[in-house]
Amino acid sequence: MKVAIIGSGYVGLVAGTCFAELGHQVVCVDNDERKVTALKGGAIPIYEPGLEDLVKSNVAAGRLDFTEDLGLALEGTDAAFIAVGTPPRVTDGHADMKYVYAVAHAIAEKASGDLVVVDKSTVPVGTGDEVERILRTTGGNFRFSVVSNPEFLREGVAIDDFLKPDRIVIGSEDDWAKAVISRVYGVDGFKGVPVLQTSRRSAELLKYASNAFLAMKITFINEVADLCEAVGGDIRDVANGIGLDSRIGRKFLNAGPGYGGSCFPKDTLAISKTARDYRVQLRTVEAVIQVNENRKRAMALRVLDACNGVVRGKTIAILGLAFKADTDDMRDSPAIPLVQALQDFGAHIRAYDPQAMTNAGKILTDVEFCKDAYDAATGADAVVTVTEWTEFKEMNLPRLRQVMRSPLLIDFRNLYSVDDVKNDGFEYWSIGRRTETEPTLSQSLAAE
Ligand code: NAD
Repeated sequence: MKVAIIGSGYVGLVAGTCFAELGHQVVCVDNDERKVTALKGGAIPIYEPGLEDLVKSNVAAGRLDFTEDLGLALEGTDAAFIAVGTPPRVTDGHADMKYVYAVAHAIAEKASGDLVVVDKSTVPVGTGDEVERILRTTGGNFRFSVVSNPEFLREGVAIDDFLKPDRIVIGSEDDWAKAVISRVYGVDGFKGVPVLQTSRRSAELLKYASNAFLAMKITFINEVADLCEAVGGDIRDVANGIGLDSRIGRKFLNAGPGYGGSCFPKDTLAISKTARDYRVQLRTVEAVIQVNENRKRAMALRVLDACNGVVRGKTIAILGLAFKADTDDMRDSPAIPLVQALQDFGAHIRAYDPQAMTNAGKILTDVEFCKDAYDAATGADAVVTVTEWTEFKEMNLPRLRQVMRSPLLIDFRNLYSVDDVKNDGFEYWSIGRRTETEPTLSQSLAAE
């Protein structure tokens, strides 16, 4: 089938490339001229493992192309997927729909034949109705239908997630549109994947509800980690014990510096705003947002505590800037408030990330970006691991200690064994594990 993907970012480029890999004829559209030029020249504007090779092979096979020209991309197309951003609006945090609606207007003007318009962006309930209204009133003379088909891929493992999803959701009440999208997903590559047919509104809502639930899981385990520190438990044992319960599952139970990224922060905000617009209050989600925001900035206080209350004039090495491993995405990364707060407290920051330094350089100022972890740690009074990159897990700790001014390791991802790190001569602070010396309340009581 002929498919157009409008918006060639983390989702659009992966979706388009994977559809091509599965045998469809795909044109990826973007209005960022530099992005399209780069893609046409074989350069991939984002870091996503495996994507470059897959793009190359599908371009070579003649199944994948890139353009800025929407009209051209829509010629003879069966389905046009909207995959543009839906960032939080600066004024009130609600999803900013201007990119989606701009695409709807552009489709209305440029499309000529029958077309199923598929919303793959994460959008508030009712967006499909509004896209439909725009198409109807801006008025091209063609048959159309609007479907919601939310995307659940995770950056870093996006190709695998797209090609082997837990489910495919098709939100539509129109038999013709359902048949077209079922054919897009009806290829052999998706055989065995559960397909959930829902109303358009249910599809829109379930994507937000899904992300809100995952954000809640992370926030829950982060709070339990705080409790572990207070009572002397080990959060990894607690998380394993909880996670072995098949009703709960182990995923998204790794305590850390708070969730970030391009989805959870904005999607939790958007679902809570939507709920209030409908006179419903999602108190659990609102609490999650608040707790997570506080946590991200509070990470700097942990560094301050580990540095005996003073970081002014000290050099802190930050290892990892991206919001998670295997991506260059800096959107809402916990590293941002951490670095900024430490700078506010007077620290000098040296930082290293395997992929995200270019994007970080657009957001952070006065940071010395370094060539690797050891370079960042050279002369540092403390090293802080913020992103769980494998190369940090596999670091040579004695070598790291050697280049540091003082051997203080603050680990926000629980990458190391407490005993190993201590044997290597570090003072070690981590999350949800009691690694310093002050007694717990129960130990103090026992000693009385
Ligand atoms: P992104 O910012 O990486 O990509 C959006 C792209 O759309 C950009 O390349 C931009 O230039 C392009 N664009 C904007 N307006 C356009 C227009 N009028 N015409 C053509 N192109 C246009 O965003 P993303 O991370 O890919 O997210 C896209 C959507 O998918 C969002 O709603 C997001 O919530 C959702 N989503 C993202 C992820 C993820 O992990 N990133 C996962 C699932 C769902």
